[in-house]
Amino acid sequence: MIRDHFRVLKVDLSTGRGQIEEIDGRDTCAGGSGLAALLFGRMGFPDRTWEDPEQPLVFAIGPLTGYFPLMSKVVCAFKSPYHGQYAESHGGGRSALSLRFADLDALVITGKAKRPSFLTVGARKLELRDVHYLWGKSVQRTGQMLRRMVGGSGHRSILRIGPAGENRSAMACINVDTYRHFGRLGGGAVMGAKNLKAIAIVGDESFDLPAGKEYGQLFRNIYEQVTETSMMDKYHNLGTPINVALLNKIQALPCRNLQRTSDEAISGITGETFAERTLLRNTACSGCPVGCIHLGFLREKFSEPNQYLYRQVTYDHEPIFAMGAMLSVLDAFQVLRLLEIAEKAGLDVMSAGVALAWATEAFEKGLLSEKETLIPLKFGDAGAYAQAVKHLGTGTNDFYRLLGQGTLKAAEQYGGMDFACVLGQEMGGYATGEVFFVSQALGFRHSHLDAGGYSYDQKQKGKDVAQAVEFLVQDEKARVLLTSMVSCLFAREVYKEALVADCLNAVGYRTLAENLDSVASRIQKMRWQTRLKTGFDPGSVKIPERFKQVVTWKGPLDTNYLDILQRSYTQKIREMAKPEENN
Ligand code: SF4
Repeated sequence: MIRDHFRVLKVDLSTGRGQIEEIDGRDTCAGGSGLAALLFGRMGFPDRTWEDPEQPLVFAIGPLTGYFPLMSKVVCAFKSPYHGQYAESHGGGRSALSLRFADLDALVITGKAKRPSFLTVGARKLELRDVHYLWGKSVQRTGQMLRRMVGGSGHRSILRIGPAGENRSAMACINVDTYRHFGRLGGGAVMGAKNLKAIAIVGDESFDLPAGKEYGQLFRNIYEQVTETSMMDKYHNLGTPINVALLNKIQALPCRNLQRTSDEAISGITGETFAERTLLRNTACSGCPVGCIHLGFLREKFSEPNQYLYRQVTYDHEPIFAMGAMLSVLDAFQVLRLLEIAEKAGLDVMSAGVALAWATEAFEKGLLSEKETLIPLKFGDAGAYAQAVKHLGTGTNDFYRLLGQGTLKAAEQYGGMDFACVLGQEMGGYATGEVFFVSQALGFRHSHLDAGGYSYDQKQKGKDVAQAVEFLVQDEKARVLLTSMVSCLFAREVYKEALVADCLNAVGYRTLAENLDSVASRIQKMRWQTRLKTGFDPGSVKIPERFKQVVTWKGPLDTNYLDILQRSYTQKIREMAKPEENN
């Protein structure tokens, strides 16, 4: 499995055929984020629309995938329906290990199938099946049917879309093995535009682990760090929802469409409450001993007098913030119900919740009426939101279809730009201040995980612009290294650069291990170059007024600091993307 090139399966849906390509670049692009940018550079069309059938949909793993704990993610790359530019979305489940055991470093899908289709790939398998009968089916129903159709349970990963992806909503996610997602920037719509309802990756190959003591000893050390020290405890224990109460306490939790940064009734949806009242069990991505995935239960009466069925719904900080705090839905079970509806439709729950929070305020202000929203939207009204999420997922009318293209697109038509909580895309669940707002607004994925701006806001007291920008650049670079391996970013305190080098040495990637710093810089630049080539202009990003009115534990936001920071980071991104610096 150790090789100095990438082994890439390219599938053309128009013909149903695929071919293996061996592509150079292991020592310069590593894998994951680096490999995805390399492949898009070779096979993508920066000047054509995202819907062009020839645009590639890329799934890439890294050189450490499957060898060490938490090296369990896949980078999905595509031209995004949300902003028409190059984008990455990261997901886990069994997808990473399935690609590894299918003996592939990447899967690239081009073309458009003639009929709604289901693609199965493996080390010795490639099949494109007509599944027109699944078109229109929910993510859950599709999963149930596909699991019966594909063997190899435990060794295969099933990626699928729901009605939102079929309708080409820019908020459509790709569901991975039920409880994980390629969530943001509309990967689900890319599959929908390709007539691709689902993909099964079958890990039907096997390979030997590295010989000698070095690998085994290193694996044991890392395994002990992530299971026996307190490093990863918060992720397994309460999970990311531990942040809900913490952020609320310091006035940094976006609530009620960011009209507030805390809510006195937050106790109904904190991580502690979810654990006490709703938690059924934890589960994990393949290759991860941490198990941060928390599954709550929803009960439904299907017959009198006391006949119930229950379903499992995954929850995290970001979904709780978006469908709970932002909508003032402050009951854990009601939040789970909204999450389940969004999951069935194949909607990204963060984008959907933030978009509906804007719609609610626009409704209150008279910019929208029931003619558009079909039901009166009111903060806290979970019943109304249950219907609204369905409408958003299926694109019931012009309004919901437009909102599904992004909150700003709807605000351009109906008004309400000032209170659209959009930082490049619908905001993440942190209202910590200037550095986070700039980080998400300009960040490569417009994700709270691009760099730790939310953490910087909480730890640093001063307002040194140069220091803050340097932090964003260096922290992004460190994360790019990990997303090229491809590690779960929750393990970023474990996998520091020296340890990553040890891991690469242990499995045999010695040249890569020796040059990690320059490789990370190269990939960081390459990603930005690809992004700008497909149309991203960091200078045109606007941070809506609502963010400038935010009050946190530090007091009112400093708009002057925010503006200078934004200009300075914009400048830095342009410098990083300069072609002559990509050597
Ligand atoms: S920590 Fe959670 S998201 Fe990360 S690999 Fe483990 S189970 Fe998956």
